[in-house]
Amino acid sequence: MPSNKILGIDLGTTNSAFAVMEGGDPEIIQNAEGARTTPSVVALTEDDERLVGKPAKNQAVQNPERTIQSIKRHMGEEGYTVDVDGEAYTPQEVSAMILQKIKRDAAEYLGDEVERAVITVPAYFSDAQRQATKDAGEIAGFDVERIINEPTAASMAYGLDDESDQTVLVYDLGGGTFDVSILDLGGGVYEVVATNGDNDLGGDDWDWAVVDHVADQFQAEHSIDLREDRQALQRLKEAAEEAKIELSNRKEATINEQFIAATDSGPLHVEQSLTRAKFESLTSDLIARTADPTRQALSDAGYDPDDIDEVILVGGSTRMPQVREQVEQLVGKEPRSSVNPDEAVAMGAAIQGGVLSGDVDDIVLLDVTPLSLGVEVKGGLFERLIEKNTTIPTEESKVFTTAQANQTSVNIRVFQGEREIAAENELLGEFMLSGIPPSPAGTPQIEVSFNIDENGIVNVSAEDKGSGNEESITIEGGAGLSDEEIEEMQEEAEKHAEEDQQRRERIEARNQAESAIQRAESLLEENEDAVDDDLRADIEASIEEVEEVLADEDASANDLETATETLSTALQEIGKQMYQQQAQQAQAGAGGGGPAGGAGAADSDDEYVDADFEETDDEE
Ligand code: AMP
Repeated sequence: MPSNKILGIDLGTTNSAFAVMEGGDPEIIQNAEGARTTPSVVALTEDDERLVGKPAKNQAVQNPERTIQSIKRHMGEEGYTVDVDGEAYTPQEVSAMILQKIKRDAAEYLGDEVERAVITVPAYFSDAQRQATKDAGEIAGFDVERIINEPTAASMAYGLDDESDQTVLVYDLGGGTFDVSILDLGGGVYEVVATNGDNDLGGDDWDWAVVDHVADQFQAEHSIDLREDRQALQRLKEAAEEAKIELSNRKEATINEQFIAATDSGPLHVEQSLTRAKFESLTSDLIARTADPTRQALSDAGYDPDDIDEVILVGGSTRMPQVREQVEQLVGKEPRSSVNPDEAVAMGAAIQGGVLSGDVDDIVLLDVTPLSLGVEVKGGLFERLIEKNTTIPTEESKVFTTAQANQTSVNIRVFQGEREIAAENELLGEFMLSGIPPSPAGTPQIEVSFNIDENGIVNVSAEDKGSGNEESITIEGGAGLSDEEIEEMQEEAEKHAEEDQQRRERIEARNQAESAIQRAESLLEENEDAVDDDLRADIEASIEEVEEVLADEDASANDLETATETLSTALQEIGKQMYQQQAQQAQAGAGGGGPAGGAGAADSDDEYVDADFEETDDEE
């Protein structure tokens, strides 16, 4: 009988950890090697043996070509594989190998198979990256109950017993990624209000800074670049990491690697000492890179550093004294340190597992979307349905219509980003809704709904309310965006905000002008008898004027609006004339009939969607 416990797994870039609830508290499970963290390293040996964790890390020096490290950096990257012996492995498959070991070791420790798991991901992971993580869990044989954000998990590990309202900043610097999140906690609810980070910054970079320093000195002395010898490089990398870790507790460390190179005159050794001060100066640019994401998260959350009640450090790299200093400087508060930074995430995942299995019942968990989501509408504009930093799970729908007469299908293009122009954002996927009954432009009612589940996985559906036809997609493969790309997109959006706004206004004015012409033409056609010659000539002249302005590619929003306005005013005359005619007929005893049926005094707010698709004004 498998255990009904849910395993909490921190599937890290460099190290993983796993925990379960035991007697109401999260407990880290030791792996088969007796350690509380497991290197996220896989090796496929020449004799077809598969090594995972410490044994894989240990042989990385002798077997670099067959050793796979930091696979998490490639999660959700479309088409990416690692080739070993002509066999291609996807990031999901490699991650599944790590998760299988975790599953085995957990079963060994608990004396029972564990089938259910909660797996954590960086807060900034895109939809594709989350989906890939879930797939990895499933390949490993887990029922993945939930994917949760690492900083959320970490604050659960801290906040379990804390019932008071507070705002927490989680600063997570691991081996390969940096994440900062701001959470509002209170009454057992954890809400991530903003997240930011850098997917390409972690303890590894500190190691490489030391490697470069040592290799440069060696090269200056012996004219040999150790970085060109793969084995020497791997040895240096390990020695650098050891020195770095030592420097977290001591003021000086030595790097001692015997027989690292051979020359005609004999073997050469690396024997160098490194002070903490030197180490900190070598890596000052790295620590500085955590400042901007931290400030950005604060500003996205609408908080000042003073508003932060607690700071939590997560990830092995936060043991470096320079991290504490940096955080204190940024937030003006001393970080908490009662939970081991390597273990907090797995412990939080176990708590969430406890919530799901019913062992813990006083916690609700909320996460947020890192970027806005929406669709492309007429003129290539991006229409947001879900704003960035919206709490998930969430659902939003909006009614759109067609831009052209007799249009029987619409192409729904789903984007993620902050730019006003759809094409400047990331295309997540697209699908076609067809079978719309032919009708005038602007008549069909097409409801587009976005649904983001608790794992951050996006489902988009579209329904033609007239025919009841429906289509949908779940976005899985699509664009796996790294933290860095998301950050870049946010920066780009800020940089172009003003220009984008102007472009949006111009496109909207153009859309309105085009719809006004469409409307005018159909009104003239439908009401041939009701419109007198003068008015007809007037309207035709106004149409021509709008067309002229439209023909000018550089026409300003203002010019377009003025021309459209003149046309709209002329159109109102049609309604007036029709009304008068009807009134006269009524007086003449024709009886019945309200004002102008059908011809409908066109409402000038009626905006139409892209070549095929437009926004209507009846939002839900
Ligand atoms: P994590 O992914 O959270 O396990 O973090 C792994 C990173 O933390 C690696 O780059 C380690 O070298 C680093 N690390 C672990 N312990 C320490 C320490 N005491 N001082 C500095 N870095 C550490």
